[in-house]
Amino acid sequence: MRTFLYPKKPSGLLYTQRKWVSYLLLLFLFSAPFIQFRDEQLVLLNVLGRKFVFFGLIFTPQDFYLFAFAMLIFLMLIVCFTVIFGRLWCGWACPQTIFMEMIFRRIEYWIEGDANKQKKLDAQPWNKEKVIKKTIKHFLFLVVSFTIANVFLAYLIGSDELYKIISEPFLDHVSGFFSLCFFTLVFYGVFSYVREVVCTVICPYGRLQGVLLDNQSLVVAYDETRGEPRGHLQKDNAKKLGDCIDCGLCVQVCPTGIDIRNGTKLECTNCTACIDACDEVMVKINKPKRLIGFYNLDFIKDRTPFKLSIKAYAYTVVLAIMLGVFGVLIYLRQDVETTILRASGTLYQNRPDGTVSNLYNADLLNKTNKDIYFELKSENEEDKIEFIQKNVVLPKEKSTRLTFFLIRKKKNIKDENYARQKKKKEKEDRKRYSFKLRKKELKER
Ligand code: SF4
Ligand code: SF4
Repeated sequence: MRTFLYPKKPSGLLYTQRKWVSYLLLLFLFSAPFIQFRDEQLVLLNVLGRKFVFFGLIFTPQDFYLFAFAMLIFLMLIVCFTVIFGRLWCGWACPQTIFMEMIFRRIEYWIEGDANKQKKLDAQPWNKEKVIKKTIKHFLFLVVSFTIANVFLAYLIGSDELYKIISEPFLDHVSGFFSLCFFTLVFYGVFSYVREVVCTVICPYGRLQGVLLDNQSLVVAYDETRGEPRGHLQKDNAKKLGDCIDCGLCVQVCPTGIDIRNGTKLECTNCTACIDACDEVMVKINKPKRLIGFYNLDFIKDRTPFKLSIKAYAYTVVLAIMLGVFGVLIYLRQDVETTILRASGTLYQNRPDGTVSNLYNADLLNKTNKDIYFELKSENEEDKIEFIQKNVVLPKEKSTRLTFFLIRKKKNIKDENYARQKKKKEKEDRKRYSFKLRKKELKER
């Protein structure tokens, strides 16, 4: 049986900053597939169509190595960021947290009230108030999930395709419509039922923390040197207590239900809600803020100030090298990829006019989103090209094949290969001739 958490509504400076960061990220997330840049949507992750677009850069299946490399860089960026700043990504930038804490949770606070009211509502029998509140909440959850599913599909299949699913007859887009419904239900299930379990159990990134973090990583931590021994505020403190008054607010606001005072846990998403809650308490009791704050564990143990660890330097160097290599690969990448090969199983042909020809196949791939008009020419102006299969337009994001004879005057052939082939051909011709002669001699006898 799932035990639901009822985190208290957070407030404070960090929460306000987190809200603004979330608004910006949400704006980007919801608008990126609908913004056109260089005739493409700003971000497209069409896995099925094997086409990826990032800010005008188009990656076709032939560029898969570049895409895979970009993903590796992204992974390395997160690793590097985690080694230095802990799991800050999870609490401040991960779409799961942003949707959960900044949209769904706030709808819940708005309709059902703060944690205690929610708990009371869930405990009470089904009456008119409960039915109305739950219906409105889940209806809004479904509406938001449907919106997210639309945006998600726009990233996956493109906003144009999504528009067709919405605007054209249902029977023309049955699979698209069912995908929309499926993703709506998935998001609804995640944000109304699974919730923090995604961060604490399912997400593999959270599991990686144990490997990535070290004592120099900055994490949300409780300064136990300052806070312990904890104890409730008393007018005449008989024994000397630490700054923690054991009010439990840091636990009440935690969306993953942990007590940060028991040490850094894998479940902590670094959302910083407990920092705000504790700061508020510290202000009230006239103590310095940041009993809970961003600390490296060495600082808490023996006040060693933050410095980058060797691991952090090593990851940064690797990341810089990867970025450099990626930059070079992007710079060297060409809009049109051309492969010209001699047609298999053919030799050169001697033509009656004294020229020599070879049959070639040319495969051209257009990696841009524009048709390209082209003309195939030989570098040597005296050469002639005789097309068997001709094309003058290279359609956008498609490939085309040309088949042609390249005709060259014998005097212009300096290639050793040709000389070798010519010798071979002459030898074969001589053999054939002597064989014919021998046959003739035998007949005469
Ligand atoms: S909010 Fe601060 S003072 Fe209250 S229990 Fe947590 S650490 Fe202690
Ligand atoms: S311990 Fe603090 S930072 Fe970590 S998840 Fe809970 S509230 Fe957020």
